[in-house]
Amino acid sequence: MLLRLPTSVSEAQECMAEGAVPIGGATLVWATWQRDGFPEQAMSLRELPEANVIGREALGAAVVLNRIDDHLPETLRRAASSVGTGAVRRTATVGGNLVGSTLRCLLPAALVLDAHATVLERDSVYETDLAEVLAKRHLLLSLHWREPIASAYYKEAGEAGGAPPLVVATAVHTDDGGRNRLRVAVRDGYEVLSDSTACDADADAEQVLHALRRTAVGGLHAAAWEVVRRQVTELLARPAVR
Ligand SMILES: Cc1cc2nc3c(=O)[nH]c(=O)nc-3n(C[C@H](O)[C@H](O)[C@H](O)COP(=O)(O)OP(=O)(O)OC[C@H]3O[C@@H](n4cnc5c(N)ncnc54)[C@H](O)[C@@H]3O)c2cc1C
Repeated sequence: MLLRLPTSVSEAQECMAEGAVPIGGATLVWATWQRDGFPEQAMSLRELPEANVIGREALGAAVVLNRIDDHLPETLRRAASSVGTGAVRRTATVGGNLVGSTLRCLLPAALVLDAHATVLERDSVYETDLAEVLAKRHLLLSLHWREPIASAYYKEAGEAGGAPPLVVATAVHTDDGGRNRLRVAVRDGYEVLSDSTACDADADAEQVLHALRRTAVGGLHAAAWEVVRRQVTELLARPAVR
């Protein structure tokens, strides 16, 4: 197998056109390839600057999970630190987790940040939403969002190989009109649902939860709703949000 390491977008497009399979840290694909055979060519984006951005409002697809630190919103940082073991987090990438894994622990965090994706096609680079990236398994270059006022993430304890543990992610953003909006995303089993509601600074948590009950998130079973209720109440009580 030839591993290609493009250093520019046009080189990456050439690799795609020549059939190179994208990889991140190969934590998932390696075992499959050992079993089924290796592709002729693979392409890692680790030398491509556009896939290595890391900041308050951007994250490259080639960034390994243990580089997601305090500079990024809390919800993403906690999501990344909840994935697998230290060894997995030192190797696995954002792109591999969001597009290539089944658990996708980063996905609820990316959804509450209302993140947009920059994707690479053979003849273009464009922005799209996460739903399209996942449905079409696009080659992800990076994620971009507007920094939230506050955010949170909780993952239930789970057993290796067991059912996916419940994940609840939340974030509050100020919109262009100066109003606050609460976004909530929940992974329940393998399903991820998300929704949002207004949450003005003078609204109390009970009012916001009441409004949230009327969204898709309100249909969750009682145990999951209780986790949402607790997290939203804690988030809205933070000084940054009040
Ligand atoms: C022991 C263990 C525990 C784990 N626990 C968790 C967990 O708790 N939560 C969780 O979410 N995950 C968990 N995982 C999965 C882990 O997140 C993935 O292994 C990892 O994210 C895949 O990343 P990778 O960079 O190694 O991907 P690779 O193995 O390199 O690739 C996986 C797939 O993603 C595709 N891909 C890679 N990069 C891109 C890109 N930029 N754009 C589009 N497609 C791309 C590849 O083509 C391939 O199909 C665990 C894995 C292991 C081994």
